Formats: sequence, C-alpha cells, structure tokens
Amino acid sequence: MTGLSQRIHALKASSTVAFNAKALEMKRAGVDVIAMTAGEPDFQPPQHVLEAAHEAVRRGLTKYTPSEGTRELRDAIAKKHARENELRYEADQVMVSTGGKQVLYNAFMTLLDPGDEVIVPAPYWVSYPPQIELAGGVTVVVPTRPEEGFVLDPDRVAAAITPRTKAILVNSPGNPTGAVYPEPVLRAVAELCERHDLWLITDELYEHMVYDGEFVTAARYYPERTLLVHGASKGYALTGWRIGWGCGPSALVKAMNKLQGQSTSNANAVAQYATQVALDEVEATAAFQAMTRQAYRERRDVIVQGLNDLGLRTPLPQGAFYAMADLTPIDPDETVAATALLERAHVGVVPGTDFAAPGFARFSYACSMEQIRSALERIGRLLA
Ligand code: GLU
Repeated sequence: MTGLSQRIHALKASSTVAFNAKALEMKRAGVDVIAMTAGEPDFQPPQHVLEAAHEAVRRGLTKYTPSEGTRELRDAIAKKHARENELRYEADQVMVSTGGKQVLYNAFMTLLDPGDEVIVPAPYWVSYPPQIELAGGVTVVVPTRPEEGFVLDPDRVAAAITPRTKAILVNSPGNPTGAVYPEPVLRAVAELCERHDLWLITDELYEHMVYDGEFVTAARYYPERTLLVHGASKGYALTGWRIGWGCGPSALVKAMNKLQGQSTSNANAVAQYATQVALDEVEATAAFQAMTRQAYRERRDVIVQGLNDLGLRTPLPQGAFYAMADLTPIDPDETVAATALLERAHVGVVPGTDFAAPGFARFSYACSMEQIRSALERIGRLLA
C-alpha cells in the first residue's frame, strides 16, 4: 500500500496477536481449535474485582482521570510494592498506562535517541524489538540457551555493552521461556547497569506465577536508574481491562507521562478503580493468586512432561504460563511446524521466529487441563 509512512512499513505485526487471531478465526468458523496462542489467563477476574467495576460505574467514576492515573491507584501500587517487594515508591514515581505494553512503549520513546542500544535477552517477547526500533533504538540480542533453562548469563550481557548502550532489559519470569532468573543473575545485571551508567528495565508482569523458588525483583539493586514494568493482566487476570504501571525515578516517570498526555492520556477509569480494589483487598487477591498459581503449576507439569514424552524437547519453565517446545521433529522450520499443528492437529501455538527462538514454538498453558490433555493427544496423533 502506498501513502503510508516508512516507519509503519518497517514495523512488523505482532505475531502473538496474529497467531491468536488466526486460531480464533478458525474457531469462529466452527473448527474445534485448542488455542494455546495468546498469553491470557483462562480464569475470570476475582469476584471482588468484578464487583468493584460495577461499583465504579454506579458511583459515576467514569470520567477522565489524571493522565498518570488516579492518586488512589498509584498509592495502591506503591503499597503493593512496599508490601510484596520491599520497594519504596512515592506517588510521583508511579504511572498507570494502557497495559504493560504502553508502559514499555512510553519508556523506549522517552529514553532512546536514534542509534541508542538496548540489550535484550533472547528468546524475548515479540514486542520489545519493534517498540525499541520505533523509538529509533537498536536491539542488541543476548542469547540464552535451552540447555541452561533459558537463564541469562551476565558475562554475555557484559560482552554486549558498547558506548551506545542505553539500557538493559530483563523479563523474569520470562515470556516466552518461563525462565526465572536466580537472584545472583539479577544482581549482576543491575551491577553492570550501575557500573556503565545504564538504565535497567525490568518487566515483571509474571511476578505471581513462580512455581519453583521465589520471585525476586531486579528493581531492588539499583532503584535510581530502574524502571519496573508491571500490570494487572496476568497476575490479576485482567487482560482486557488494559491496566499496566511503571515505577521508577520521578523524572523518568514525569517524562513518560508527558508523552502519554499527548497520546492516549489516562487508562480506562473504571478499570483503574477495579485494579485499585484488586491491590488493596490484599487477602482476597492473594487467595485468588494462590489458587491460580496452583492450577498453572499442575498444568505446567502435565504439558512439559507430555511434550517431552512425545519427543518434543521442552525445558521445565520455573514461571509464567508458557512452555517452549522444540518442534524440529515436526519440521525444521518452526512456522511450518506451528502451521501444521494448527491446521492438522487444531492446536494453536506461536512459532518461535519472532521470539528469536528458531525451531521452537510457545505453548501457553493458561487453558484447562482437559484442553492440555486433548492437545497432547492431537499432537501425538500428528506425530504418529
Ligand atoms: N503478552 C501476551 C502474549 O505474549 C499477550 C499478547 C500481546 O500483547 O502480545 O501472548
């Protein structure tokens, strides 16, 4: 199509969004597809949060809020991080956006000048490089290995630092690998940031889905230059409500909010109120998170064992709700293999191509145990 900008021509469409749309389209056409494409909890949000949304409508909390989010929600976010992560944020160090995606977008646009480099461990979530590149930045990929559980090696990060490096991004628990970085790894990365005067961006959307060991926030080591990215989508099962937040130095947050004030302005007001209740009603939310975590853990064990038993090598992920399986026994090209799974086995997955995970595909196991067992049977039949 002519008449569009070079910027938009250069931009890749999101493959998580695209493969999910394809699976859903087949479903709509009447095909019994098991969609393990989108990373989206199959649980409905907890009852107290649903009720809070009704209450927000009844009380007329339906108007614009400050661009950076309501004071009440920002206070609730600061309290959450004090309570759960021993991090201290003032209200002016917190901003609310339309999902974690927009927090990241704001951050890259705010931090990067043309040619600035951001170090990103691979396999990575599909939207990091396009967002970095939209801001004029350059993605510098540091690979991790399946045989090391996709855990980052700080020495490889150190070797990737150049005079143009502006930031290092970490995502633990990670999408798409489910890798949870041990504390010494996060500490070493933060120390590199401090030594080289870099920003640390830590994407912690999957904090509440850790199955082995404990969650550690990378924000604790170098808070002066760390942006913590979080949101309500995963741990609170509020994907469609689009609430994300960023916490960091007030000057950075203020600059990001300047951009947001000229683009989308505030995130949805009703969803902001419901998220505030999700954060403030500590016990009810913790019970929901414990229940979902247990369910995800059981599903993880079944899918990882099942895929390995089928001869599809799948490292055991410690967190998030993704498993990365080596599909090369189906086809050396992961897109061909994922397409075969979708079209012939009616199991939707996202090929590793845009995650920088050649040969692999991402299975989201945020679906019922019955669907997982049925998906494994279908893949087994395809392989046979
Ligand atoms: N983060 C989810 C995923 O990776 C949602 C889709 C998206 O926003 O890319 O599937």
